[in-house]
Amino acid sequence: MTTTIIGYPRIGAHRELKFATQHYFKQRISAQELQDTAKKLRQANWHTIKQAGIDQIPTGDFSFFDTTLDTAFLLNIVPKRYQDLKLAPLDEYFALARGYQGEAGDVKALSMKKWFNTNYHYLVPEFDQDTQIKVRDWQLFAQFKEAKAAGINARPTLVGPYTLLHLSRFLDGKQPADFVAALVDAYAEIIGRLVDEGAEWIQLDEPALVFDQTDADRALFKQLYTAILSKKGAAKILLQTYFGDVTDSYQNLTSLAFDGLGLDFIEGKVNLDLLTAQGFPKDKVLFAGVINGKNIWRTNYDKTLALLGQLDDVADKIVLSTSTSLLHVPYTTKNETKIDPAELRYLAFAEEKLTELRELDEARHAKRETPAVLANRHLFATPRYEEDPAINAKIAALKPEDYKRLPARKERLAIQAKEFNLPILPTTTIGSFPQTAAVRKNRAEFRKGNITEEEYTAFNHKEERRWLKIQEELGLDVLVHGEFERNDMVEYFGDNLKGFRFTENGWVQSYGTRGVKPPIIWGDVVRTHPITVAESVYAQSQTDKPVKGMLTGPVTILNWSFPREDVSPKVSTEQIALALQGEVLDLEKHGIKIIQIDEPALRENLPLRKKDWNSKYLDWAVPAFRLVGAKVQPTTQIHTHMCYSEFGDIIEAIDALDSDVISFEAARADMTLLDVLHDVHFETHVGPGVYDIHSPRVPSKDEIVKIIHEILRRIPKENVWINPDCGLKTREEPETVASLRNMVDATKQVREELAHESQPTV
Ligand code: GLN
Ligand code: ZN
Repeated sequence: MTTTIIGYPRIGAHRELKFATQHYFKQRISAQELQDTAKKLRQANWHTIKQAGIDQIPTGDFSFFDTTLDTAFLLNIVPKRYQDLKLAPLDEYFALARGYQGEAGDVKALSMKKWFNTNYHYLVPEFDQDTQIKVRDWQLFAQFKEAKAAGINARPTLVGPYTLLHLSRFLDGKQPADFVAALVDAYAEIIGRLVDEGAEWIQLDEPALVFDQTDADRALFKQLYTAILSKKGAAKILLQTYFGDVTDSYQNLTSLAFDGLGLDFIEGKVNLDLLTAQGFPKDKVLFAGVINGKNIWRTNYDKTLALLGQLDDVADKIVLSTSTSLLHVPYTTKNETKIDPAELRYLAFAEEKLTELRELDEARHAKRETPAVLANRHLFATPRYEEDPAINAKIAALKPEDYKRLPARKERLAIQAKEFNLPILPTTTIGSFPQTAAVRKNRAEFRKGNITEEEYTAFNHKEERRWLKIQEELGLDVLVHGEFERNDMVEYFGDNLKGFRFTENGWVQSYGTRGVKPPIIWGDVVRTHPITVAESVYAQSQTDKPVKGMLTGPVTILNWSFPREDVSPKVSTEQIALALQGEVLDLEKHGIKIIQIDEPALRENLPLRKKDWNSKYLDWAVPAFRLVGAKVQPTTQIHTHMCYSEFGDIIEAIDALDSDVISFEAARADMTLLDVLHDVHFETHVGPGVYDIHSPRVPSKDEIVKIIHEILRRIPKENVWINPDCGLKTREEPETVASLRNMVDATKQVREELAHESQPTV
C-alpha cells in the first residue's frame, strides 16, 4: 500500500444525492429508491478511486447528511425525544438532522456547527442522562460489505471517540468522563465486528487533536485509546488527524499502539518539525497528507517531492495521502466547459488529486524525473495571470484612518435613532426570501439566454414587490428586497467582480442537502461596475419603510472562495474590501440608508490554535471589514450578520468590527452567547436570532415571546433587534410567512408588556 485518501465527496458529481434526498423528504420517492441512488454513488466513487490507481480506499465516508451524526447514530447517541417518535431508522436519522413535525410528534433538529475551519457543518451530538451507548446497525457495516462485494477491501472510517466527545453537548450535568467506559466498549465492538467482516485497516478520525490540548484533554485521549487499542485484536488502526498540527499530542500518538498515524503537512506545517525533531516510530505507518484536500490548485510536484524526501529521512513506511478528506473540493474538472482550458490546467479537484497522488508516488519510486514531474514543473514555470498595478498601489497606500469610521458608534447610533425613528425592538429579516422553483427558473433561463434581461428583471421586480407587500402586511420594520437575483451569495459577488473564476459543477457540500459552488480567486480583485445598486434602489422606490442594502463582506467572500496560494489572504481580502467600499458608497449615494454587510464566515477561518487568533487572522480580518463601511455618513446604518458558529470567544473582535447592528444565531441553540453579550457589555446593537430557519418547523408565538424575554433579561432593550437567525432562502413560502407572523406578533406582545412596565406607578 502506497497511496490512499482520507475520504471522497459524496453528494454526487451532479448533486444526485441532494436531489434524491429532497425527493424523499417530499415523499416523491421511497426509502428504497433513495438507498439505490446512494449505492450507485458509492459504487461510482469506488470505481473512480480504484481506476486512478489509489490502493487503499476508504468507506464510511458516505453519508446521508453528516458523518459525525452517523457516528453518533451508530453509537445510539440519540436523545430520547427522537427515539420517542418511533420512526424507522432512516427517518429517525433525518429527524435528528432536520427536525420533525408530523403525526409522530414535533422536535427540532440537533444544533449544527461549523466543522473546524471549514464551511462544512456537522450536527452536534447530545449526551444526557438517558444516553445509552450501544452499537446500532447503521451504514458502516453494510457499506464495508458492499465495498467487499464490489471487490474492494476498504478501510472503514468513523469519527473517533475523543473528537466525538469534544464536539458534543452535555446536558443534565453529564460530562465526557461519564461515557468513557461505554465508548471504549462500543468502539472495541465496532472494530471487532469489522475485523470479523474482513477489514484490515480501520480509520478513526481525531481532528480535535489539532486544537490546543490541556493536560486533562491528553489524559482523556490516552485513557480512551489505551483501552480501545488493547482490544483491537487483529485490526490495524489508523489514527487520522487533519486541519493542523498535533504539537500537543505527538508524544501520546507515537507511544500508543496505533498502527498508522495520519498527519496533515499542508495546514499542519509544524508536523514536519515534530517528526524531524522527535523522530517517527519504526513500527508505524505514516499516512502523509501532502495533497491539499481543501484547495483546488494543482500540487507543485517539485515542492511536494522535496517534502516527501524530508519525511523519508525520518519515517520508514509512508503512504501518500490527502491533507483532509476530499469532501471539501468538487468532484472533477472534467465537467467544466466554461473555464479556459489554459486556465483549467492549474486546477485539480478530487478526481485530479487522485491522479496527483499516483503520479507523485510513481515519481518517488522511480527516483528520476518522470514525464509527469517535468510537465508539472513546466506548468508552474508559466505565469498564470496578469497583475493589476492600480489596486496593488491603492492597498500599499492604505493608512490607519482609512479603517476608522467617525463619529464613534454611540454618537452615530443616537443620530441614527432620530433618522429612522424605529419602534423599540425593531423587526427585520436577514435578507433572502424563499428561492422558489420559479425564482430559480428565472435565473436559469436568463443565464441560458432563453429570456431577455428585461424579462428577467421584470420577474425579479414582481417578486420583490410581492414580498415587500408581505413584509409590510406582516408589520416588519426594516425590509429587504429578497435576494432573488442571487444564487449563492459569494458566487453572486464573485461573478460581478473582476478576478474570480467560476465552475459549472464545482459543488461542495455545506451541510446535508445544501451545496455551495465556491468561486476561485484567480487574480487581483477589482470592482468594475455597480453590483446591487439597481435592485436595492428599485425595492426602496416601492415602499416608505427602509429597505436594507445587502452585501456579502470581504472576509466571507474570501473564506467561501478557493483562495489564491500566491498572495496572502490579507491582501486578497483588502482587495475585496476596497471593491465593496465602492459599492457601499454607491448605495448610499443612491439613497439606501441601511446597508448590511454579511459576514457569516468570519469565525470560520479563525486559526484552531488560540495563540494564532490575532496575529494570523483577526489582526487583518477585522480591519478589512471596517474598511468596507468606514467612509459612510453617520446617518447611514451599517448592519452585519453572522451565523452557525460559536462567537463567544471572539465577541470582542465582533464588537470591534464597529458595525452599528449585528444579527446572529444565538438564542435558538442556547443562551450562552446572550450571557457573553451581557458580560462584555456588547456595544453593537444586536438581533440574536429568535427562531431556527434551518428547519421547516414553524415556531409558535409563545415560544418566541419566551426567547425575547431571555434576550431582554441580558441585553438592554434599546439595543435589541428581532429577527430570524439566518436568511430564508432555503425555506418554503407558507412556513416562512407563518413563522414571521408569529415573530412579529410575539414582538408586538413584548412591546406592549414593556410599555406597561415603563408606565409610572402611583
Ligand atoms: N443575506 C444572506 C441571506 O439572507 C445571509 C446569508 C447567510 O448568512 N448565510 O441569505
Ligand atoms: Zn446566516
